[in-house]
Amino acid sequence: MVERANRKAERGATQGGSEIMRRDSAHPPPSRRATAAPKKTIALVYDFDGTLSPKPMQEYAFLPKLGIEPKEFWAECARISKAERADVLITYMHLLYKKAKEKGVRVDRADLVAQGKKVELYPGVAQWFDAMHAYVKKRAGDSGIVVKHYLISSGLTEIIEGTKIYPHFANVFASEYWFDAYDLPFPKRVISDTGKTQFLFRINKGLEDLSESINAHMPEALRPIPFSNFIYFGDGDTDVPSMALLKKNGGHAIAVHGPDESEAKCVELFKAGRCDFYAAADYRKASDLWKRTCLLLDRIIADVRVREEARGL
Ligand SMILES: [Mg+2]
Repeated sequence: MVERANRKAERGATQGGSEIMRRDSAHPPPSRRATAAPKKTIALVYDFDGTLSPKPMQEYAFLPKLGIEPKEFWAECARISKAERADVLITYMHLLYKKAKEKGVRVDRADLVAQGKKVELYPGVAQWFDAMHAYVKKRAGDSGIVVKHYLISSGLTEIIEGTKIYPHFANVFASEYWFDAYDLPFPKRVISDTGKTQFLFRINKGLEDLSESINAHMPEALRPIPFSNFIYFGDGDTDVPSMALLKKNGGHAIAVHGPDESEAKCVELFKAGRCDFYAAADYRKASDLWKRTCLLLDRIIADVRVREEARGL
């Protein structure tokens, strides 16, 4: 939390400087690493819309502010992207501001951050992050095993920054606008479904600064967080590339569905081998999601200890 707060202050000083431009000091680049990484960090990686929050984040404040029905907005996005053969995510980012301009509503970075306060979260989400730290501490003792939370979302960085859970993330990778480059804000970064996997590799290799190339080969021994230490949380088809990457590399995934919604999509993901478990998006203690996550954490902690033991022989 302290590390996060410091980085938040740093961002304020650089005005608009991106969170993801900052290196996690626990993971120096390979050139500065003398020996193999200890691999004692567990990464819990979350999708946002539908996973931590019931609805797409733009539906809580942005679209109501413009007086637009969400269903109509998303249908228009789909229609335009099909007709123009345009990327659907770039289309939504463009259309949001085009609509705002048409309505004479000015929405800047500060407005978007303020909108984050209106975003609803599933039950227990606000307490979940600290609870997972406490669980790992309780189970792993003073072994040095720690948990870090990451968010990878096609939604908007600025809205996420305004939510109360933002300080819990070691890093947030989300779509973002340039606010001063053009008349209408211009997409600075767009995180697509397959693009999400780039950030899984960045976490895996400790290359969280986007200015660092991700493509150079890095031996497994030097990667600070092996994929087997990952648990990914997602709610649907947009998470399939991330789930597939992790599952194929010894990682873990849990699919969630709204507590009052159909579990059909989760069952489909489970049957296709995309996830280890699925559960209702209820993050409160002793829920199915809680118990299944803890089961995977126990397994990861045991794997880390087995590796440590073997290393000492
Ligand atoms: Mg989602």
